[in-house]
Formats: sequence, structure tokens, C-alpha cells
Amino acid sequence: MAAAAAADLEDVPSVVLMTELLRRMKCATKPDKRLILIGPPGSGKGTQSPIIKDEYCLCHLATGDMLRAAVAAKTPLGVKAKEAMEKGELVSDDLVVGIIDDALKKPSCQKGFILDGFPRTVVQAQKLDEMLDKHGVKVDKVINFAIDDAILEERITGRWIHPSSGRTYHSKFAPPKVPGVDDVSGEPLVQRKDDTAAVLKSRLEAFHKQTEPVFFPPSYFYRSASAFNHVATLCKYCY
Ligand code: ADP
Repeated sequence: MAAAAAADLEDVPSVVLMTELLRRMKCATKPDKRLILIGPPGSGKGTQSPIIKDEYCLCHLATGDMLRAAVAAKTPLGVKAKEAMEKGELVSDDLVVGIIDDALKKPSCQKGFILDGFPRTVVQAQKLDEMLDKHGVKVDKVINFAIDDAILEERITGRWIHPSSGRTYHSKFAPPKVPGVDDVSGEPLVQRKDDTAAVLKSRLEAFHKQTEPVFFPPSYFYRSASAFNHVATLCKYCY
């Protein structure tokens, strides 16, 4: 087993090995962090996540990205999720809870995680609470990407994405050097099927009706959740 691992590493270019070594050395000095990002579609969660992830060596768990990958691969999960996603409705709690439960076990989540798009309902928050209790960990912070709904339509309908890296562009606010092409890889950019004004309406409705009660008064689920105790803070743009 050890010999096989050594042989595998021999084939890895030195520059890749050194870069990974340096990354791990840097990560060893970072404190563990468990964050939840909350905000409506287009508020910037997906843009900020990779930056926070690299800075703190966390795993980035974006349920929307994971579901889109499942839809594209036509897995049983993707087949079940597709219709709700296209309509801008939430997929069932069981499906997303299962994804997060599996993902939290990954070695890349050892130093902590960024939950981007989860929990989105009170049931999901309860399940998250139970999962974290099992692991004996708590969420440190909930970062609230507060933004006016009126700004979101222009942001969402002009958004372009490079699927494999997650880099995002905007035709007006952050255009790529060449329209429709990723600056770094030269690969084509795509627009999400649900990034239309009509579907945005349903996504915002789901956010206000189902997700806000998890975090905000009067329901304020996280006030009493045991995984939070008094450790987590709901703060705007802090991390
Ligand atoms: P948004 O830009 O709306 O925040 P996401 O990429 O996070 O988009 O999610 C896209 C879609 O995936 C949602 O509209 C919903 O259908 C589904 N989805 C993502 N996360 C969840 C979740 N935690 N619970 C239920 N559905 C989800």
C-alpha cells in the first residue's frame, strides 16, 4: 500500500507537490472555522466563498452546485431535483440533507466548512444541528449577505459562469475580456437555466418564506439551536 502511494507520488510533477505542501503548511496555522453564508440569489455568496475557502482552508459546500452537477450527470438525485430547480422551488429536505451529510465526512472539510445555500428550511437547520452534534462541532458564524431584492434581477440575468472553476462574470459589472469566454482557461461561459427574471421571482419567494425564518425573527430557529449555543454570530459581511 505504502509502495503504491509512493509510486503514485513519483508521477506527480514537483511543482504540484511543492504547491500542495506549501498550501498544507499555511493551512496548519489556520484556526478551524465553520461558516454558514445566507443571502438571496445573486447576493454574492458564490463569489465570496472561494476567497474565504482559500484563506481559511475550508471546504465549500454549495448545495446548488452539487445539485446542478447531479442534474447534469442524470443521477437518481439529479432526476428527482431537476423539476423543482427549474421552477425556482426548493428541492426536498431529504435530498439536500443527504448530500450535506455525505459531504461533511470528506477530508477537505476537516478544518471546517462554508455552507453556501444550506440550511434553507427550518427542517434542514434541525438536521444540520443533529449532524454537527454527532461530530461534536458547532457553527462559528452565520454571514448575512443582506441586499435589496430590487438590485438582484440585473445581477442575476447578466451573470455568466465558468462551470469547472466556479468563476463568475457579469456582462455589465464584471465582463470577461472576451464575451462568453473564461479569462483564465479560454473555455466557454454559460448562463444558468434558472437565472431568468421569471424564475428569480420564485427563488426570492422561497428565500423570504422558507429560508428567512431559519435565521431571522420572529421564528429565529438558530436562537435556540444547540449547535449554535452562544458561539455563532449573525453578522453582515464579517468573517
Ligand atoms: P441561488 O442562486 O438561488 O442561491 P443555488 O445555486 O444555491 O441558487 O440553488 C439553486 C437551486 O437548487 C435552488 O433554487 C433550489 O431549487 C436548489 N437548492 C439548492 N440548495 C437547496 C437547499 N438547501 N434546499 C432545497 N433546495 C436547494
